Amino acid sequence: MTMEQESALASAQRQFDIAADILQLEPGLRRILRVPQRELTVTFPVKMDDGQIETFVGYRVHHNITRGPAKGGIRYHPSVTIDDVRAFSMLMTWKCATVNIPYGGAKGAVVVDPRKLSMGELERLTRRYTSEISVLISPERDIPAPDIGTNSQIMAWIMDTYSMHSGHTVPAVVTGKPIEIGGSYGRREATARGLSYVLREAAEALSFPIAGARIVIQGFGKVGATCARLLEEMGATIIAVSDSKGGIYRRNGLPLASVIAHKQRTGTVADFPEADRVTNAELLELPCDILVPAAVQMQITARNADRIRARIIGEAANAPTTPEADAILYDRGVFVIPDILAGAGGVTVSYFEWVQGLQEFFWTEREVNAQLERVMVGAFNQVLRTAHERRVHMRTAAYLLAVSRVADATRIRGIYP
Ligand code: NAD
Repeated sequence: MTMEQESALASAQRQFDIAADILQLEPGLRRILRVPQRELTVTFPVKMDDGQIETFVGYRVHHNITRGPAKGGIRYHPSVTIDDVRAFSMLMTWKCATVNIPYGGAKGAVVVDPRKLSMGELERLTRRYTSEISVLISPERDIPAPDIGTNSQIMAWIMDTYSMHSGHTVPAVVTGKPIEIGGSYGRREATARGLSYVLREAAEALSFPIAGARIVIQGFGKVGATCARLLEEMGATIIAVSDSKGGIYRRNGLPLASVIAHKQRTGTVADFPEADRVTNAELLELPCDILVPAAVQMQITARNADRIRARIIGEAANAPTTPEADAILYDRGVFVIPDILAGAGGVTVSYFEWVQGLQEFFWTEREVNAQLERVMVGAFNQVLRTAHERRVHMRTAAYLLAVSRVADATRIRGIYP
């Protein structure tokens, strides 16, 4: 296990401790909420294209299900660990509670590099993993979704496998499905769209318009690239973007359509010819109005927080900032919109997709986006109010709201038996 992975869980627990201290949470509730409720580890065989049998390790972790079914993505990544899955399941509990949707928190993973598998191998791996975790998932109990390394096709295989076991079609067992089999309009863009709404609100709260704002985005994937496009539609200027191979910067703004086309053609933005090259570390320190970390965890730490020159940080990625960095940024007046708020658009539209699947009644994209805006803007204003009232930064404010919602639900339900 690397230090970075160790810190994702440690940092999630430290964030929780800060909120629990301020809320003066009773010791029993602290013990319950600080760790996951249940964890499943599976080792399962997959027949590879060359006829060999390989075994793979997968996880599904439920952090808490007090407020509703467990909800959270499935990650396919070669270096994912059980501690990552624990940390992200905990973040999902707080994320759902921050935007006040009736879900608990979960996360799943398979230790695999999906790019090294053929489509056939990927399908067999997904179907067998689904079968292995079928003791946990169902529309009432636990509803998976895509995350890094997984997509709507993988969700379709999960839905089909679960439905084959059940003997009838069960669309509401996963979200992030293709539209053709019960997916929701607006789901693909939901995380980025939700983020664009809260960034617009944050800019307004800081008295500058989003139109004309200068934006830097780390991670040009599903969320980062879509966010770039939506912010440009709002009139902002994207001055730097990056992916795992490196970043590009142009002071007066990147030609976004050309960058997207270049990425589609070559698989990376890093060698885009009409811009200066920057490393991912340098990119984080560029002068800008809004910095969007949309790649991986633990990017803004005590080592670089005092060199960040953004006015607002909108965390699309999960856990990109350490608690030490949070304190430094707060002292320096950088306004951080935390992951459990900024990145909640995806799970919010997943919730809409689940509701539509259960009711077999489907909404238009305009209805989905209007409801998303209502939820995100409402949650942003609640967190901002709490931050002002309690004199804390936005992350602690979001945790105060989220943890107290889960704690209240636990007290009201009581401890069984
Ligand atoms: P993705 O795989 O589509 O994109 C990730 C991007 O980050 C890619 O461009 C990749 O090259 C880049 N990247 C990877 N490692 C990097 C590194 N070390 N430095 C710089 N760039 C790096 O994934 P995504 O769905 O866009 O998710 C991005 C982040 O947002 C993740 O942290 C994910 O957990 C979080 N998130 C995603 C959703 C969603 O709906 N997809 C919802 C909430 C949060």
